[in-house]
Amino acid sequence: MIDLHTHSTVSDGTDSPRDLVRLAAEQGISTLALTDHDTTVGWAEARIAAEEHGIQLIEGAEFSTTDPSTRSTIHMLAYLFDPASPDLVAEIGRAQTARRERGRRIVDLISADYPLTWEDVSALVPEGTTLGRPHIAEGLIAKGIVQSRDEAFDTILYDNGPYDIALERMSPLKLVKIIAASGGVSVAAHPRAATRNAGLSAQSLTELADAGLFGLEVRHPEHDEAARIELTGIAQRLGLAITGSSDYHGHGKSVRLAAETTTPDVLEALTTRAAKNISTR
Ligand code: AMP
Ligand code: FE
Ligand code: FE
Ligand code: ZN
Repeated sequence: MIDLHTHSTVSDGTDSPRDLVRLAAEQGISTLALTDHDTTVGWAEARIAAEEHGIQLIEGAEFSTTDPSTRSTIHMLAYLFDPASPDLVAEIGRAQTARRERGRRIVDLISADYPLTWEDVSALVPEGTTLGRPHIAEGLIAKGIVQSRDEAFDTILYDNGPYDIALERMSPLKLVKIIAASGGVSVAAHPRAATRNAGLSAQSLTELADAGLFGLEVRHPEHDEAARIELTGIAQRLGLAITGSSDYHGHGKSVRLAAETTTPDVLEALTTRAAKNISTR
C-alpha cells in the first residue's frame, strides 16, 4: 500500500511525524509520503521512524500557490526535492511569514463576532509549525464556539467566506519549475476537490505538464466519479502519471490512511524521475 499525501503536527495534522509513520506501518502501508503544508521540518523525525519500522518514506511537502488567472489557491505536492535548495528555502520562509500574518488578520475578523483571540490560536501552534485555518478551527473548538473542524469550516472558515483571506503565493508554474530545478517531482494536489476553488483549468494543466509536472492526484477522497474520469482523460492526453492518496490529517478530518493509494509502477516512475532531476541539476 502506497499513500503519497499525509499531514502531521508540523502543519495541520494531529499525529506527530513519528506517530504517523508508526500508524502507517501498523496498518500495512509500505510507502508513505509526508507532505506537510509549506514545510520540511518533519522529515528528520519521519525518516528515523521509517527506518525503525522498516517502511519507505518519501519526503515531500504540499505547497500553496496562487493561480494568476483566477487568484485562487492551488495546492501542489512536491516530492524528493533538495530541502536546502535556496529557492525553496526562501519560498518556505515567505510562506511561513505570510501564513502567520494572514492567520492573525483572519482571527481579527472573527474576534469582531466571536470570543476568539490571537493568543487562543497562536498558543496551539508552536514556532516552526505551519499555521493554517485548521489551527483557527482548533482555537474555535477550544473556546467552545464549534464542536469540530468540519463545523468550523462549514460555518465560519469556509473558502471565500467573510472570514477568509487569500494566501498570496507564487504561481503553480513557477513552483513546478523550482521543484524540478531542486531535483524534485511535482504532482497537482486534488485538482477537483469539490469544496474548494475551481482548481486548475485543463489549459493550466497543459502548461504545467510542459514545465515538467509529473502527475495528477486523481484518486483523492474529495474527488467524485466525474472528476476522476475528467482528470484521467487529461492525464492520459498530457502523459501525466496518476496518483492516489488519502490526504490524511489525523483526527482533523475523517479520512483514514491509505483511503486511496498509488500503484507501484507510478511510485517507481516517480523515484526514477526524481533521480533524473537530481542528476541533471
Ligand atoms: P489554509 O492552508 O490555511 O488555507 O487551510 C486549508 C486547510 O484546511 C486544508 O489544507 C485542509 O487541510 C483544511 N480543511 C479545509 N476544509 C476542511 C474541513 N471541512 N475540515 C477540516 N479541515 C479542512
Ligand atoms: Fe491541510
Ligand atoms: Fe491540499
Ligand atoms: Zn493535503
